[in-house]
Amino acid sequence: MASTETSPDQLFERLTRGDRAALGRAITLVESARPADRDQADALLARCLPLSGKSLRVGITGIPGVGKSTLIDALGMAFIAHRHRVAVLAVDPSSTRSGGSILGDKTRMERLSTQDAAFIRPSPTSGTLGGVAGRTREIIVLCEAAGYDRILVETVGVGQSELAVDRMTDLFLLLMIAGTGDELQGIKRGIMEAADIIAINKADGGQQERSERTRAELKRAVAMLPTRPSGRRAEVVLCSAIQESGIDELRALIEEFGEQDRRSGGLEERRSRQRTHWLQVAIDEALRAEFHNDPSVQEELERLGVAAREGQVSPFQAARRLIARFRKGGAPPP
Ligand code: GDP
Repeated sequence: MASTETSPDQLFERLTRGDRAALGRAITLVESARPADRDQADALLARCLPLSGKSLRVGITGIPGVGKSTLIDALGMAFIAHRHRVAVLAVDPSSTRSGGSILGDKTRMERLSTQDAAFIRPSPTSGTLGGVAGRTREIIVLCEAAGYDRILVETVGVGQSELAVDRMTDLFLLLMIAGTGDELQGIKRGIMEAADIIAINKADGGQQERSERTRAELKRAVAMLPTRPSGRRAEVVLCSAIQESGIDELRALIEEFGEQDRRSGGLEERRSRQRTHWLQVAIDEALRAEFHNDPSVQEELERLGVAAREGQVSPFQAARRLIARFRKGGAPPP
């Protein structure tokens, strides 16, 4: 474990020199649930924070099979061709690693994973969404301190995690495919509203015409949505991740939006709203963890949990008693 072998200061020196193994260990430290690791992680993050914030952070979502990893592979290469360093992270608290693809899996990004200028990290598999997403935010800070200036955060567009990713990135890219209708693609209206760019992937082979039609439909749908806080509406573009058409245009559009938001002050505004949000999430997570780790709560929860399940006590009353017990720190319940 990093904590026993390397001090936070040593890890900091090494990761800022570009040592990938050190970055990997720093991330493991931040992901660790051990309290001693948490102290070390906090010390490391405090050193990294002043070096962070200079990157462009892009959230990428879409249902499984839409082409996220293929696109990230191509888009990442396009950023590298423009002398950027790319980190790919993933948020998928639901992932079980049995069946389906693992987000951020290196084997899914064949070219990018061999690049010195790229760093790919799969999603941690356990924890609450708030916990996983909160740690991903910290990992962004580590990656930025390590010199990565284009951060791609991948998530599956089927649940709540894409909104969490929207709250940790500067721009949000929604990937779709032609012709199946957004309800079939399981995309919630809230996600459409959050998108800065909607890219219709697989616009190749016989799909070009259908993709164009879908683009026109989506443009009409977007025109009816409220504008983004940036004042823009989502741009709808076509691409083929496999044939690499539209990819450099997509890269250029991302850069253009990032630059607009930087100049207008919208980027800083968005990030400061995000910091306020994550403060709340961090408080909730820390309280939750403290509550559930309290031995007197655990003991009482076992007893009251059964009583609540069998209807002998109301769940709300049981919760109030547990919280009272927690406050008293082990005193007998009222
Ligand atoms: P993900 O689950 O969203 O990450 O999707 P993948 O990137 O794994 O792609 C799912 C499947 O779609 C794979 O078989 C890809 O080869 C294929 N695919 C991805 N992008 C394109 C594309 O632009 N055109 C076509 N025709 N197929 C693609």
